[in-house]
Amino acid sequence: MKESEEIIKQESQHFIEQAIEKDLADGKNGGRIHTRFPPEPNGYLHIGHAKAICLDFGMAAKYGGKCNLRFDDTNPTKEDVEYVDSIKEDIQWLGFSWEDREFYASDYFGKLWEFAVSLIRRGLAYVDDQSAETISEQKGTPTQPGAESPYRNRSVEENLDLFYRMNEGEFEEGSRVLRARIEMASPNMHMRDPIIYRILKTPHHRTGTQWKVYPMYDFAHGQSDYFEGITHSLCTLEFEVHRPLYDWFIDQLKTDDYRPRQIEFNRLNLTYTVMSKRKLLELVKDGVVSGWDDPRMPTLCGLRRRGYTPESIRRFVDLIGYTKVEAINDVSLLEYAIREDLNKRAPRVFGVLKPLKVTITNFPINQVEQMEIENNPEDETHGRRLVPFSREIFIEQDDFMENPPHKFFRLTPGQEVRLKGAYIIKCTGVVKNDAGEITEVQCTYDPLTRSGGPQADRKVKGTLHWVSAAHALDAEVRLYDRLFCDEDPSGHKDIDPREFLNPDSLTVLSGCKVEPSLADVKPLDKFQFQRVGYFCADYDSSPGRLVFNRTVQLKDTWQKLNK
Ligand code: ATP
Ligand code: MG
Repeated sequence: MKESEEIIKQESQHFIEQAIEKDLADGKNGGRIHTRFPPEPNGYLHIGHAKAICLDFGMAAKYGGKCNLRFDDTNPTKEDVEYVDSIKEDIQWLGFSWEDREFYASDYFGKLWEFAVSLIRRGLAYVDDQSAETISEQKGTPTQPGAESPYRNRSVEENLDLFYRMNEGEFEEGSRVLRARIEMASPNMHMRDPIIYRILKTPHHRTGTQWKVYPMYDFAHGQSDYFEGITHSLCTLEFEVHRPLYDWFIDQLKTDDYRPRQIEFNRLNLTYTVMSKRKLLELVKDGVVSGWDDPRMPTLCGLRRRGYTPESIRRFVDLIGYTKVEAINDVSLLEYAIREDLNKRAPRVFGVLKPLKVTITNFPINQVEQMEIENNPEDETHGRRLVPFSREIFIEQDDFMENPPHKFFRLTPGQEVRLKGAYIIKCTGVVKNDAGEITEVQCTYDPLTRSGGPQADRKVKGTLHWVSAAHALDAEVRLYDRLFCDEDPSGHKDIDPREFLNPDSLTVLSGCKVEPSLADVKPLDKFQFQRVGYFCADYDSSPGRLVFNRTVQLKDTWQKLNK
């Protein structure tokens, strides 16, 4: 490679790719690349996790390595198999595979116990009989050293005896912990004799009642990396301050040149969204949303139900990139990514959300014409379909105005519009009920303007979507908007994000009318309802009862073209 090409390549790489390539160039770990994605099975995955998944699996794929799936299941009080199953489903849906490497931190409870015992024997760990509160009070502050525990200098024998009895179930939860014996005056608070084991008597979803003591995250994570031969342990920035501790444990554990390396990157935060599993769980528990897969949730199952594709999520993650600086990303970039994807992939169909009946008075009664319409002008391979046209059709209520303002190019008395894929019609009158509301619009059509006809290209300013009244199918349409009105709902000290809930985040429209080609849609089938937005069939949808979710609004290109 020429020097200039080398520079360009480096600039287009993010810092983690650069770090990995340097490790490879330095011959570290025998040229192996091995990453892991380590979810805690205490909730469903959200789009923030997608950012980590794309990196962990992506780096392994790019450098010919492997990526493990490892459940970080060290806290039986919060974890559940329901979450394990959903996490696996979501990773696969995103398009990644851990092959046969599905691991659990709990697989290593035995080895971790052995390691803890070895630290005790080396005088590097001790049992502390104080409460967690007292221990935390003794921790000091970043500028003041911590105080040593009165139990810090217990004998190895006493420590071993107590640690075994802790695991026999002899002591109550919270009455004793095992701490690493490092340095109470360390400038890094995490190095001040961190707690590494605690007593928990809740049965574990995999190991049952075998253990009464459980390792803390910091004691399980790096060591699990080491046991699995992980070379690059990629995690979010909040773990940067834990890195010296990660390295300290590895130093005590390692026996040769191999060592896993932790590298931190910025979390994904999204505007108008909460992203912590704990807060998402609260929304589910309190019934603010219908479940983890409510289409307003930033969970992967929620986004899937909303109509997002894995490709669009991966594309979004690509667009935001990986840095060392915390930021909050604009949710409209995510919406851009799904629009861009569906624009090419989703068939375009006619769906009328708020129907208004139009009678074409000079169109023969009982006559039906099949209009051939292309499914997606962006991509010919989508082909064409036949859409029935007849004397009575529905258009959108918003597309008609009896007394329009200046520059209203849709249907108004005396004005012509084109019905997409069919004819040009002209409004000749309206029918009103006793309350003076318009119940029907009357029009005439121009038979020469049918597509393929002699005046097919005649210009009119507006083009509307429509469905034939006799052929249309009823549908329920769920319009989703942002769940929160505030840009950063979790960013206010002492204010619960739920104070910022958007009261209009869900609008259910019944009595919508869609074209008959949608009779057999299956859940998650995706469409553009022309001029209206992108939609997908919901899990609640069946051939007898169509239900659609609005994925995202459309940038109305027709409107622009028409101006
Ligand atoms: P939460 O903060 O939502 O509770 P967590 O960090 O506790 O998430 P884990 O299951 O421990 O959730 O996360 C698994 C992996 O996903 C970790 O490596 C973590 O760093 C990463 N991760 C979690 N949230 C984000 C995010 N918002 N952006 C990028 N990566 C994330
Ligand atoms: Mg975590």
